Amino acid sequence: MNNQINIAEILIVNGAGVFCLLYLAGTRLSNKLGKRVGEYLFNCMIAISIVALLLEMLSFCIDGIPGKTVCVAQYVSNAILFPATTLMGYLWCLFVEFKISHNVKKIRRTAWMLALPVAVAYALMVLNCLCKIGLLFSISSDNVYTRGRFGLYSYVILAFYYLYSIIVVYLAKHKGSKIHFFPVYTYVLPCVMGTVIQGLHYGVAAGWFSVAIALMLVEMQLQKEESFVDELSGLYNRKYLEFYYKQMQMKKYAQVFGIMMDINLFKKINDTYGHTAGDDAIRTVGRLLSGWVDVSDTVIRFAGDEFIIFCTNRDEQGVMDLISDIRKRLTEYNRTAKKPYELSFAIGYAEYSPEYASLDEFLHDMDQKMYEDKEVFRKQCR
Ligand code: GH3
Ligand code: MG
Repeated sequence: MNNQINIAEILIVNGAGVFCLLYLAGTRLSNKLGKRVGEYLFNCMIAISIVALLLEMLSFCIDGIPGKTVCVAQYVSNAILFPATTLMGYLWCLFVEFKISHNVKKIRRTAWMLALPVAVAYALMVLNCLCKIGLLFSISSDNVYTRGRFGLYSYVILAFYYLYSIIVVYLAKHKGSKIHFFPVYTYVLPCVMGTVIQGLHYGVAAGWFSVAIALMLVEMQLQKEESFVDELSGLYNRKYLEFYYKQMQMKKYAQVFGIMMDINLFKKINDTYGHTAGDDAIRTVGRLLSGWVDVSDTVIRFAGDEFIIFCTNRDEQGVMDLISDIRKRLTEYNRTAKKPYELSFAIGYAEYSPEYASLDEFLHDMDQKMYEDKEVFRKQCR
């Protein structure tokens, strides 16, 4: 056996990694996740990591033990482990792309291009095992594993995939995508640290264990993000409102406006066409508002049929233009969508002032203005 290998350390570390991932998989299964593509990709990453941790334990344990079966086991485990590293990088990039665009069609072309390095890794592996020329690794006659001349290939490709994911998230944030908490560094940093440690010190099991930790951290981050999103409308929820308000105070924007909107006669939609139609109207409003605002505006579902838009990049005229734009587009939507009901809003806005003692005061001022608009609507209905 190679005396650089500390079997006890490897069993403890990889065992802990397997435990973490099984726990993660268990919680995800009990939450009934796994139907969306993003969830499927993440589940694949968990499964691959569990298999890799187990195979790595096996490969270290049998290193240098003579016998034909051990030789086969060494080849098989390492033949799976090497391309698995690049495969993980590939899946991570797809996961990132999907989380940003939520559109399978959009990422299909990129998926093919990104798959190329993985295909090369598998081709190298086949060559390595069939020709036994030690490209990626070799197993000596006494079954001792040695890294091959192209053993660094998977690390280089991994670095490419990590860089790619960081750039994709950076560009998406730059274009205004609402991915405030996207855990790209949460995943990449532990993985890079673990891979570098393992790369520099043969016999230390840090690579796949760090992947297990990174996947746990990503899950925690995604859960935090999900807790800020309203499931029905897809907009931010009230919990996010409080978070946003604190952030907004810290960022010290030149001007911030809050627009409060309440759907007129929403109860009537529920009472006449049923709660499902009401839910559908909320979903529609979420979709429409998200599409009508600028990237610097933040839309929140404040309560049942009430919504707030925060504008950090508009002056008062810009806010009034946005309101009039929303009204015009909603009229157009009512004309073309041919729903049995019409959607309209009572709208009021207020400018944020550092003098406000609390968020409630800011909300109160918006509400006051909205109420005046509601009164106008009610008078028109009489
Ligand atoms: P107004 O014109 O004065 O705004 O009256 P309104 O009929 O719109 O009623 P109001 O804004 O006072 O109340 C909103 C209603 O929205 C109350 C509640 O039953 C309903 N509601 C709240 N959340 C949901 C939801 O998630 N789905 C559905 N379908 N209805 C909801
Ligand atoms: Mg209402």
